[in-house]
Amino acid sequence: MNVRAHIEAVHTEVCRRNPGEAEFHQAATEVLDSLTPALERHPEYAETGILERLCEPERQLMFRVPWVDDQGKVRVNRGFRVEFNSALGPYKGGLRFHPSVNLGIVKFLGFEQIFKNALTGMAIGGGKGGSDFDPKGRSDGEVMRFCQSFMTELHRHLGEHTDVPAGDIGVGGREIGYLFGQYKRITNRYESGVLTGKPVGWGGSHARTEATGYGAVYFAQEMLTTRGYGFEGRRVVVSGSGNVAVYAAEKVHALGGRVVACSDSSGYLVDEDGIDLELLKDIKEVRRARISAYAEAKPTARFSARGTVYDVPCEVALPSATQNELGREDAVALVKNGVLAIAEGANMPCTPEAVEVFREAGVLFGPGKAANAGGVATSALEMQQNASRDSWSFEETESRLAAVMRGVHTQCRTTAEAYGGNADDYVLGANVAGFLRVADAMTAQGVI
Ligand code: GLU
Repeated sequence: MNVRAHIEAVHTEVCRRNPGEAEFHQAATEVLDSLTPALERHPEYAETGILERLCEPERQLMFRVPWVDDQGKVRVNRGFRVEFNSALGPYKGGLRFHPSVNLGIVKFLGFEQIFKNALTGMAIGGGKGGSDFDPKGRSDGEVMRFCQSFMTELHRHLGEHTDVPAGDIGVGGREIGYLFGQYKRITNRYESGVLTGKPVGWGGSHARTEATGYGAVYFAQEMLTTRGYGFEGRRVVVSGSGNVAVYAAEKVHALGGRVVACSDSSGYLVDEDGIDLELLKDIKEVRRARISAYAEAKPTARFSARGTVYDVPCEVALPSATQNELGREDAVALVKNGVLAIAEGANMPCTPEAVEVFREAGVLFGPGKAANAGGVATSALEMQQNASRDSWSFEETESRLAAVMRGVHTQCRTTAEAYGGNADDYVLGANVAGFLRVADAMTAQGVI
């Protein structure tokens, strides 16, 4: 079997069969490009069609979501759930509510999720969903009616042993609450483990809100440690200002680093004193306003609507906004300014060209499916607590999260070393380690 030709054929088929789904092609290409050494060592995976099956979701759902706005006007959005792979456990992955959501975006996210979830070592398969609904500027009542309509269709496909959604961009505790309420009403079951990211008072896990950001920083810290560095005194840039960015910044500050810049879709903010997270949280989470409000409240800070946050010199960058936000030129600027490490807090924020720049420059690069696995790992901890009707303390949960991130980091390095000879190749390590765990389970479960 010619492994390269086999992978190329799978790649061609993915592009042919999923026309126009650029982000899905990108995510699939990135993984497939890494798998040559794995398939050379395990030709049985090629012989049993593992790659062809992995690239085809087990089930893809698209549905109409009608709802009535505050003016009484009927609105229609599109809902999605892609149940990608259940070899390791129930489909697990967030819901994204954002106007850019389409099938290709949900498929790229679901595909990434398979390998990310496998890397955590926990019993969770991969899936993702969402809608092109834009919660920005919508009242609580509108968001509630939308969530209820969304769940009225989706509920029949969910279950604590079947498919367990959580949040992603545009979906936080408020939306999870409305979604859970409607699921409970329709099914007449208090099935705590059917959704994760619930508020702490009724089945949510401590540290779930913080987990993705904290986890990305733990991962970056592990990467830095391999070079004998730490966060102490380091200048850090975090892109975005949502849930991942805010809690990444919080952990950087706790470890003695200083986050000097962050951003949102309107521009970026520089505060040389270190971003004041109480102020930022108030603006983004309570007032749901733009980050320019920060510079208005704190005159020593500077807001810029032009350029990018990556123009700000830093030693560690944590891209935590959205896919393909960091391109080649941003990567060149970061390298020129002496960046040591990049850990992706968001899903696929760096373009392939940017990753190539980091690789050539020899800077540490932690891909999202490893670096941001802390969120979904803590979702799995939430499922464990729900299944045992238990609730752990913040400290207990956070220490388990930290252990998972250390485990993901070690797996990336040992797998990269074993399959490519370079432990610093986290892209290879993450893709191969995630793939092997899923491929083994799929093989054992037969051709399904
Ligand atoms: N949306 C998050 C992610 O990208 C979390 C998913 C989950 O907790 O299920 O991994």
